[in-house]
Amino acid sequence: MKQLKDFKEEIHKCSKCGLCQGECPVYQVTGNDCAVSRGLFVMLKGVLNGDLKMSKTINRYLDLCLKCGACTKFCPSGIDVVDVIISAKFEYFKKHPFERLKTFVQKYFVFGLIPRIVRTFIRPTKSKKFEKKVLYFGGCGSKLKGDKSIVKLLNSLEIEVINPLFHCCGIPYFTRGDLREFNKSIKSYLEIIKKYDIKEVVTTCASCEKSLKDYVKWAGENISNEDIDLLKEIKVKNVYEYLRENNAKLALKKQVKVAYHKPCNINNYNDIEWLLKNTENVEYVEMADFDKCCGLNGLSKIKEYKIMKQIFDNKRKNILEAKANFVLTSCLGCEVALKIYSLGQYKVCDLIDFIANN
Ligand code: SF4
Ligand code: SF4
Repeated sequence: MKQLKDFKEEIHKCSKCGLCQGECPVYQVTGNDCAVSRGLFVMLKGVLNGDLKMSKTINRYLDLCLKCGACTKFCPSGIDVVDVIISAKFEYFKKHPFERLKTFVQKYFVFGLIPRIVRTFIRPTKSKKFEKKVLYFGGCGSKLKGDKSIVKLLNSLEIEVINPLFHCCGIPYFTRGDLREFNKSIKSYLEIIKKYDIKEVVTTCASCEKSLKDYVKWAGENISNEDIDLLKEIKVKNVYEYLRENNAKLALKKQVKVAYHKPCNINNYNDIEWLLKNTENVEYVEMADFDKCCGLNGLSKIKEYKIMKQIFDNKRKNILEAKANFVLTSCLGCEVALKIYSLGQYKVCDLIDFIANN
C-alpha cells in the first residue's frame, strides 16, 4: 500500500506558485495557506524531513481539504494533490485509534446497517436479455434507491444489465485515509467481478467511477498480481458515455427547466452536456460555478461549520439564481449534500433517475 514517503518526489515538485489558491474552495473562504495544497505540502515536507510531527493540527488541515481535486487541474507541476493528501491521512489514521473508531461507525452503521435495512425492501430489477451485456456497479445508490432507472435506460438501447449487489466502492473510507478498509472494498469488488465473464463495468455515480478506476493504484500487498492484472483489464465507464455512444434518443413527457451540478469526479462533462442538450423537453440552464465542489466532505465537519457553511451558501445561491425546476447531478454524495442544505428551496435529483422517471 502506498505511503506518504512514496509521494516525496511529488511533494518536491511543488514550485509554490500559488495557482492552487485561485481554485481551492476552502482557501477562497478562509484565505489560509495551510488549507490549500501549497501550504499542506510545506507541512508534509516538514513531516517527511522529520522536522514536524504528523500532529492533530496538520490533520485538521488535511481534513479541511474537500478532496475535490480542483487544484490538481490547474497545478503546473501536475501533482495529484488528492493522492498525496490521502497518503498523509493514512499516516495519521494508522497512529490514532479514534480515527479507526470513526471508520468502524461509518462501516457498520452508515454504510452497513442502513443500506442493509433498506435493501430488504428494494430488490434488484430484472433486466431484459440482449446480446450486448454490461455489468452495473450500483454501489450504495442501488441499495438505497434501487436500479430501475439504469435498467430501463440501457434496456431501451438493447443492452442487458447484469446487476449483482456490490458493496460500497470504498470512497468514504478512502477520503478518511483508511486505505485498509478501502482495500477490503477492492477485494469484495474482485470477488463479484470474477463470477461474471464481462470486462466492462458501468456506473452512474461519479464517485464510484473514480474509486473503481483508482483500485489498481491503491491495491495493497493483500491483492495478488493476477487480481491486479484483472483490475487493469476491466474497462470502467459511466452511463453517459454509453448513452452518447449509442446516440440515445430520449425525451421527457413535458418541458422542464433544469440546472446541473457537476460532481468533482466527473471527467466527461461533454457527454452529460450532450445528454442535457439532446433530451427532448429538457431546457438546460448552466448555473454559475456549476463545476465547483458541493462540499460533501465538509458535512461531517461540525467543528468547521462556519467555514463549510460559506461553501454551502454559495452553492445554494447559485442554484436559486438559475431559477430551474430541478438541479440534477450524477453522484450519490453530491445528491445527498445538495438535498441536505437545500433548506427546501430547490429540488434535487440524480440525472439518470430524472430522465428515466419523467
Ligand atoms: S499549483 Fe501546484 S505547484 Fe503551484 S503551489 Fe499549488 S500545488 Fe504547488
Ligand atoms: S483538493 Fe480541493 S479542497 Fe483540497 S486543496 Fe485541492 S482544491 Fe482545495
